[in-house]
Amino acid sequence: MKILLQFPDGLKQKAMEYAKKYEKEGHEIYLSASSCYGACDIAIDEARALKVDKIVHFGHNKFGKLDMGVPVEYIEFRVDIKIKDLEKALPALKEYKKITIGMTVQQSHQFKQIKEFFEKNGKEVVSNKGQLTQEEGQVLGCDAGAVLKNEDGVDAILFIGNGMFHPLAIDSKKPIFIFNPLSSSIKQINSEIEILRKKRKGTIVKALNCTKFGILLSTKPGQFNLTNAKWAKKEMEKRKLEAEILVANELEPLNVNNFMVFDCYINTACPRMSDDVEEYGKPVLTIPMLMELLKLMDQTKK
Ligand code: SF4
Repeated sequence: MKILLQFPDGLKQKAMEYAKKYEKEGHEIYLSASSCYGACDIAIDEARALKVDKIVHFGHNKFGKLDMGVPVEYIEFRVDIKIKDLEKALPALKEYKKITIGMTVQQSHQFKQIKEFFEKNGKEVVSNKGQLTQEEGQVLGCDAGAVLKNEDGVDAILFIGNGMFHPLAIDSKKPIFIFNPLSSSIKQINSEIEILRKKRKGTIVKALNCTKFGILLSTKPGQFNLTNAKWAKKEMEKRKLEAEILVANELEPLNVNNFMVFDCYINTACPRMSDDVEEYGKPVLTIPMLMELLKLMDQTKK
């Protein structure tokens, strides 16, 4: 079988080991050398060019209902946490009876055990599944629905995992805690989320003075959203502003800034790209941020 192996950047060092294993089984193996940020980012261009029989995608599980037209086998990268270590989370959560719990795909195979642990320790745990995720409690950087769907009925939200990328997707006013299983430490992150909210508001205000909009459209399968891009262009043009759709697999700041004309970007690709955009040197808005901008524009005209 002709197989394309795809690894996120953090797992690429394991690629040779797997390539050898598949080759020993008699398969013809290719390694995707493109960057890979998530299961939204399946290496379909390489797969089509090589006419492979399947893609084996490591580190993530299926993204929503994405149909690649090429079979994709997902091999998650699971990291077991020690359930006993969760005891260290209990003091910080003692005031909160009803909680909801989120985690990445690295830990979501343990969701049931984690839930049982907290229930045994007197908590009521409300659980759910996101729109784009496959497993109970699983959170993506663009889909915290597994916890946000329960937001109204709980006293606090707990995210289990390390790093801030995923928990910062939990845009809630409820107390939000992260338990880091590597250090067995817990911290509240509402102030970090508030900073992000303010940063987004500041970006929207800056965009009010912009007149030439570059609409970023990524061809990554789970990020491609032509409907949103066309809608954004139409909305800007309705308001007598200039807008063009810029399309690429990877929307690198250097490449898009080479157009030298746009003073603001509207990002229809990964929504989290807009949180980390210093290199663009211009405001970058997600679609919900654009909707707020349009409202502001219309209000200031009145
Ligand atoms: S946060 Fe961005 S990179 Fe991650 S799965 Fe969502 S669209 Fe893909």
